Amino acid sequence: MKKKVVIITGASRGLGKAIALKYGREGWSVLINYLEQKKAAEAVADKVRSLDGEAEVYRADVSKTEDVKNMIDAAMKKWSRIDVLINNAGITRDSLLIKMSEADWDAVIKTNLKGAFICIQQAAKIFIQQKEGHIINIASIAGIQGREGQANYSASKAGLIGLTKAAAVELGEYNIRVNAVNPGYIPTEMGTDVSDKIKEQIIGKNVLRRHSDTKEVADFAHYLSTKDNISGQVFNLDSRII
Ligand code: NAP
Repeated sequence: MKKKVVIITGASRGLGKAIALKYGREGWSVLINYLEQKKAAEAVADKVRSLDGEAEVYRADVSKTEDVKNMIDAAMKKWSRIDVLINNAGITRDSLLIKMSEADWDAVIKTNLKGAFICIQQAAKIFIQQKEGHIINIASIAGIQGREGQANYSASKAGLIGLTKAAAVELGEYNIRVNAVNPGYIPTEMGTDVSDKIKEQIIGKNVLRRHSDTKEVADFAHYLSTKDNISGQVFNLDSRII
């Protein structure tokens, strides 16, 4: 039987890597997108192949339309279809709002929000032809909560939630599902900048007194992508009550 195909942006490390390994374990073909860390992306691909999956790595800046077009073309050339797109690539440039530079504002919005828009637009062209497809956007609890020192990041993730709903409305008639998941704090490379004080606050507000983990988010994303009748929804994968 032909393997299903998933494109995961920002899959060289952290959450994207965990998602790639989950799909590999489930026997999918996985396109592992990266920006700078080619060796790390190749190591993820090797691991996916050692599980039950197929894998290719592809360097593309998600905020550049030409890069994304070429990435989608490469996946189509290799596998002739795409089943799922996971918009996971993301960055932070934290500082208090009154001190935040325009460059840091723009960089975060460009990668986290515009990047997802470009990937959705390009993948949707294939999904419309296929009359099927599923897009999962990795947003964040920060997008609904608002977080000190993260005006740019919170705005990008709130925007991603709005984009998820608008895309679900527009693309539903083509049998394209669009959903978002909101992980809570996870100690990946992105999470290493978070101070011990903030970590304690996050865990203190969590009813289970622990943070999110990559494996659960990966398992959930995979589960969601196997569901045919869920679209336009936002799932909080955290145990803080907001
Ligand atoms: P991470 O460890 O910093 O990894 C970020 C990934 O994004 C890397 O693979 C990086 O590629 C890639 N990337 C960055 N800019 C890119 C671009 N312009 N084009 C393509 N790829 C790009 O982050 P993470 O913690 O795994 O986060 C993954 C997602 O989960 C993000 O969207 C983040 O906002 C979200 N999230 C994270 C947390 C958390 O606490 N960690 C919580 C909620 C939501 P290279 O390695 O090649 O540079």
